[in-house]
Amino acid sequence: MTANDVTLSDIRAARERIAGKVERTPTVPSPNLSGHLGAPVYLKLEHRQITGSFKLRGASNAIASLNAGEKARGVVAASTGNHGRALAHAAKLEGMRATICMSRLVPQNKLDEIRRLGAEIRIVGNSQDDAQQEVDRLVAEDGLIMLPPFDHPDIIAGQGTLGLEIIEQVADAALVLVPLSGGGLAAGVAAAVKGVSPGTKVIGVSMARGAAMKASLDAGHPVLVEELPTLADSLGGGIGLDNRLTFSMCRDLLDDVILLNEDEIAAGIRHAYEQEREIVEGAGAVAIAAVLAGKVGASGPTVLILSGRNIDMTLHRKVVCGEAFKESAA
Ligand SMILES: *Cc1c(COP(=O)(O)O)cnc(C)c1O
Repeated sequence: MTANDVTLSDIRAARERIAGKVERTPTVPSPNLSGHLGAPVYLKLEHRQITGSFKLRGASNAIASLNAGEKARGVVAASTGNHGRALAHAAKLEGMRATICMSRLVPQNKLDEIRRLGAEIRIVGNSQDDAQQEVDRLVAEDGLIMLPPFDHPDIIAGQGTLGLEIIEQVADAALVLVPLSGGGLAAGVAAAVKGVSPGTKVIGVSMARGAAMKASLDAGHPVLVEELPTLADSLGGGIGLDNRLTFSMCRDLLDDVILLNEDEIAAGIRHAYEQEREIVEGAGAVAIAAVLAGKVGASGPTVLILSGRNIDMTLHRKVVCGEAFKESAA
């Protein structure tokens, strides 16, 4: 642990701060996936969170932590969609202005939703890094407050509240599978879960196409990876070469990282729909996909986080019919 790490007490404080602003989502058993794994499998239904993803936890905590002067200036972020959506919602609740910068790769459905939530949108460049440069400019020139999607202590602590719920709902969890991109969710959940239940393992799951945290962990320091289109679009983007918190927390707290190809992610979305009767986006399906692909060992009760549901429904229909992943993987 380094001095900058987000601790269990930070996460407990976050929970107090966001109580009443986010849902406590259910965790339910999956008899079907338990059969696949050979151990009890539970699904944490966080895709049912307000705004359709766990990102509302971190956004609500970060906004509630601002002082009055900061609230008056308004917030800004770069986002592949769900963070922007969460910030827009949380800022509106607080009566604040939110500006969201995003790249041209962001799907139209996510953009429309953020606009509907009342945020200002700026579309810049072809990558998360280009969008981030616009954020930096607005911070420097207009004095807006930046709330990044993952590498911020209040964001990580907010996401960690999901981990507290998991251990309350499945006290004997042996393993938690967490969708992994920038690592705010994985760092927060691992800090919470291991803080309360040190013997529980936490494993991150990413898509093979552009897995920045995995490449960085292998290299021993943050590295750049090429951004590629993937069904798990919410897992796209780098971790930042100047990463402050999530790289070291993931290095110290995660027991492993699993990578999945596009066919495997499509199978996860399809399984969620047909067997579990849940609509999830690609990023939200990776924990299910890891079990279906046989990439997880049975060590005891296993909790899979379904992290989001904000998928374009035309794409969802194609995936369920077995078409779309072939296009996106081409
Ligand atoms: C942001 C996001 C993730 C990844 O979270 P990180 O904190 O960036 O690792 C996973 N699933 C969904 C649905 C997301 O929106």
